This record gives sequence, structure tokens and C-alpha cells, in this order.
Amino acid sequence: MTLDAYHDRRDFRRTPEPRGDAAGAGDAPIFVIQKHDASSLHYDFRIEVDGALRSWAVPKGPSTDPRDKRLMLPTEDHPMAYADFEGVIPQGEYGAGTVLVWDRGTYENITEKEGARIPVGDALAAGHLLIHLHGEKISGGYALHRIEEGDDARWLLVKMDDEWADARRNPVSVAPDSVISGRSLDDIAQDEDEA
Ligand code: MN
Repeated sequence: MTLDAYHDRRDFRRTPEPRGDAAGAGDAPIFVIQKHDASSLHYDFRIEVDGALRSWAVPKGPSTDPRDKRLMLPTEDHPMAYADFEGVIPQGEYGAGTVLVWDRGTYENITEKEGARIPVGDALAAGHLLIHLHGEKISGGYALHRIEEGDDARWLLVKMDDEWADARRNPVSVAPDSVISGRSLDDIAQDEDEA
């Protein structure tokens, strides 16, 4: 796991995003979902793996309906410090646009094979990971399945059918704002203009 691609794509004299380093082993691993109004609006789904944030862009965001299969496109690993980032990435910089922390919390790896727990790194390498999220907006089991490998790698994010499943809730619509500041994308962009 390396942050080279993350660092190569950014000019830290211009973007307010954190430079960040790999973190040491903490307690429960974290996840964060950032809403990112870039060239197209999407949700960046990140989970802590080996001291960095493994990342995917999810165009439609997560669903709580087990019948939905949400496309996930892998992106570069991000530093742990990115989990708290909200702000505006300047025009001309990689990922230019407004970012808010849509949800965050901790997760448990629940991937098993023949009754034995599979480490997260192995599960990701195999293209099948099951995690239980403890977020503020979304919780419960989610399955991550790789459906294409290589340069055009694609994954699907699917809610597991458990007590946190809810076919009617649609959290990206009913809870659009930041879980850490309560701000909307417009609020963040406006705060940045005034600063
Ligand atoms: Mn993004």
C-alpha cells in the first residue's frame, strides 16, 4: 500500500487537502464516505487498511436497499488524515470541487471462509470483502465484490440483508449534509469564498 499516486497527483502548495502519512495501527479501523462535487458528483468510499485509506468512487453513493448494486471505481489510496477533510479543492487541481464528510465511523471485517476470518488485505486481493459498518447515517453489513480487474477495475457495493437494511430510506437523499459540520456543499463553498 503506497501513497505515491496520491502525492504525485496533488500540488500541496495549492490544494488544502492533507499531505498525510501512513498511520500506525489504531483500535477499530475507520471508514469514511466523502461527498465530492467534482466534474461529476460522486461519493468517495474509503476504508482503513494497513495504515492508509483504500478508496473507491461510488457515483450514486451507498444504498440501504439490498436489491441495489452500486458501482465502485477504485481510486488511489489516501492518507488517514484525509478522513477529516472538508473543503474546496481549487480549479485546475486534481479532483477540483467541494468535499464534505457525508458519513464516518468504524468497521469490522466479517469476511469468512469455512468459518475462518479472512484478513481484509487478502479479501480485497481476492475481490470479495464483507464489512459491518458502524456509521452515523449507514450501518450494518455491506458486500464489496470486484466484477472486473485490471486498468478498468470495477466493484459493486451491496447492502447485506440484515436488520439495518431498509429499502425505503435512501440516505443520500434524506441526509445530504456533512456529518461533522452539518454543512451542505453550498455552505462549504460559500465559507471558502468568504475565508
Ligand atoms: Mn472524489
